[in-house]
Amino acid sequence: MIHPPSDCSRCGLCQNRTNIVLPTGNLNSEIVFVGEAPGKNEDLQGTPFIGSAGKILDDVMRSAGISRSDIMITNTVKCRPFNNRDPTKEEMMACRPYLNSEMKGRKLIVGLGKSSIRNLMGYECRMSKVVNTIVKIEVEGEFMDFLPTYHPMACIYMSEAKKHLLETMKIVKRLLG
Ligand code: URA
Repeated sequence: MIHPPSDCSRCGLCQNRTNIVLPTGNLNSEIVFVGEAPGKNEDLQGTPFIGSAGKILDDVMRSAGISRSDIMITNTVKCRPFNNRDPTKEEMMACRPYLNSEMKGRKLIVGLGKSSIRNLMGYECRMSKVVNTIVKIEVEGEFMDFLPTYHPMACIYMSEAKKHLLETMKIVKRLLG
């Protein structure tokens, strides 16, 4: 895995960041969750999904019998976009070499939310059409299994999202064996 240097300035997100947010969980896991971007708490502490989205993610994982020590968690960009706006295509491209190095050789990539799915599948799609359907994505010449699903925050405003996210975690649990 390649990490950004502590003075990384590949994109403008470096201007407002407190910490670069590096992957967490089981760094050797065959399964990698890719979220969107660090939020306020993640920026302050340098760890992905430790705020309210992380609490929801932990709860849903626990319901399916998995924990952070089973999977690796990372984001499409490693620095917080100002005011939690969506990361731009350019920012995601700038950070992509790091994400690619994190995904290389894994069994399954789980895309949490629209930005992650758009970045990794390469096009915008209706969540209801793609959720929990494994597709192939190409990462630097390697074809990998990709499982699109809802972002944990979607559970707050959409009751359906929680049901789908729980199903995602059950698929992950089966693949973990
Ligand atoms: N939302 C994300 O997509 N990633 C985080 O790390 C935190 C919140």
